[in-house]
Amino acid sequence: MRRHVTRLGMAMLMLVPLGSCAPGGDAAAPSAGEDAAASLAEAVMGSITVEGLERHARAIVQYERPSGGPGENAAIDSIVASLRADGVPVEVHTFDTYASDPVSASVRVPAAGLTLPAITMAYSGSASSLRAPLVDVGGLADLPDLEVGTGELLALEGGSAMDGERAGLPDVRGSIAVVEGQPRNVPTAVLALLGAEGVIFINPEERLNDLIVTSTWGTPSLRNYSRLLDIPSVQVTKSGGDQLRSLLAAGPVTAEIDAEVWTGRKTLRLAVARIEGPTPDAPYVLLGGHIDGWYHAGTDEGASNAAMVELAKAFHAERERLRRGLVVAWWPGHSNARYAGSTWFADHYFEELRDRAVAYLNIDGVGQIDAVRLSSTATASMHSLARRVVREAVGQEELPGSTPGRNSDQSFNGVGVPLLQFNHARSAEDGGYWWWHTPDDTYDKIDFDVLSADAGLYARAIAHLTADPVLPIDMVAEVEALGALIERRSQQAGGRFDLSEASGRQRALLERVRGLAASLSGHDGPDLDRAMLAVLRPIYRVMYDPIDPFHPDPGFSVGLLPGLAPVTILAEEDPSSDRYLFAETTLVRERNRLLEALDLALLEAERLQGRLGS
Ligand SMILES: [Zn+2]
Repeated sequence: MRRHVTRLGMAMLMLVPLGSCAPGGDAAAPSAGEDAAASLAEAVMGSITVEGLERHARAIVQYERPSGGPGENAAIDSIVASLRADGVPVEVHTFDTYASDPVSASVRVPAAGLTLPAITMAYSGSASSLRAPLVDVGGLADLPDLEVGTGELLALEGGSAMDGERAGLPDVRGSIAVVEGQPRNVPTAVLALLGAEGVIFINPEERLNDLIVTSTWGTPSLRNYSRLLDIPSVQVTKSGGDQLRSLLAAGPVTAEIDAEVWTGRKTLRLAVARIEGPTPDAPYVLLGGHIDGWYHAGTDEGASNAAMVELAKAFHAERERLRRGLVVAWWPGHSNARYAGSTWFADHYFEELRDRAVAYLNIDGVGQIDAVRLSSTATASMHSLARRVVREAVGQEELPGSTPGRNSDQSFNGVGVPLLQFNHARSAEDGGYWWWHTPDDTYDKIDFDVLSADAGLYARAIAHLTADPVLPIDMVAEVEALGALIERRSQQAGGRFDLSEASGRQRALLERVRGLAASLSGHDGPDLDRAMLAVLRPIYRVMYDPIDPFHPDPGFSVGLLPGLAPVTILAEEDPSSDRYLFAETTLVRERNRLLEALDLALLEAERLQGRLGS
């Protein structure tokens, strides 16, 4: 065991109460902390090698890895054996989920003697020779009113008062609807609610991308299993779609579709490496990425899995330097069980995550050949760390950033954990990410120099998060972002919904966290980490989580501050209509939720200010 002086030193630091400066806690302390993170990052990056990344990636990508299958299990075994060989503690959980595997599909127009290559999607309904007239409903992008349907799906949890005519759609009852665009869950659900018998998605490119059409998230529960769809949906290539549309241009077309999908209970395994902080209950950073994937899943995401192995080993070797632990999880059930692994972990480790997790770093799809464009997906509190890491790593000053969506194993919004993901994408001129979710996502699509650099970004971010005395989490940016969102929802309501009280409380909170941010320097310790997260948690839960923190939200986005999404209904609807009344009632309740969150955050901020003694 290599733990003595450093760890004892840290234990002493943690006993220093908030409100008095840690030893050396003058102006020099933060830079000492930054030096610690910088030298930790250097040490970690120094032990991550291209050879190591290649070895792990080859061991993983050799298998096809649909979740719950022998290939995924072999890849998990290989990762676990490699970690244990280096003494990294790793646990393997086993749990049941509700998975869905597409098996086969076809699309035929018997009268024209036409048979098109097709696939079906995870969680599609099954059909054998379903025969019905085709109705072309246009492209996903041509149907903005589907967004209104999204809001109603969200508000009504499965029911819908939606009127297809108002949405500008042709009558799809009894038909097979034809839609241009990659398969998505909301359009599928909307077409099912409008009475379509089946859906044919036309891929906008000359390929077929494996996808998922359920709007459940993780294993369905009693609250949301009614969202599972019976409607069969299939996908054809662009040229296949052109053939269908040219037949439709000449007159009515009756088509037949087959879709075979296996959906049911499946046992999955989840490997979790735990690199302890200075004490067994120390706060930790959670790093996660999915182990399963479509076909050989080279860049989505055997490459990222390999980087995770190297990061786990490297941080384990440097564990004496950590102020906080690192937990690394290889999520199963991402692709054919709709984020079942990360959701299971959020469900079963909810209190531990709430009390100890200081950030969730998601890794997905890094290490692609010819990747040129860096960006981040993050909660507002994490953008400044992302920018700083990229500036330190590659000298790039600007970093495009997006806000968390409903994808990529982002299962921890309800727990209230800040999120950061680095993205490294190819240019459109190079054909973009054309092999994504296809059999062409093979080992040769990984560039190990790119992967090594991408792993370096995560190494730097984790080094700051595990070694900086004060967590590099920007509370001010998060509260500012909330203020902008309240303002935006107020504008969307067109003067029909009053959010002025919420704006006033947000301004009071902002003033308080600005004061806090200025007085954090020179303090440290797990109690400070927890107190900072406690200020942010209520804010995350309203900004990123529409229903409640304990039940996963539907797997689609209605934008940030999602509970207030129905303000658009007020702006466009006749105030005397039933729909207006239902939307307004929803919004009054959601405003109560927002006001309570602001009050809780303010209370926590005042408590922290009191403990800092300034
Ligand atoms: Zn992925």
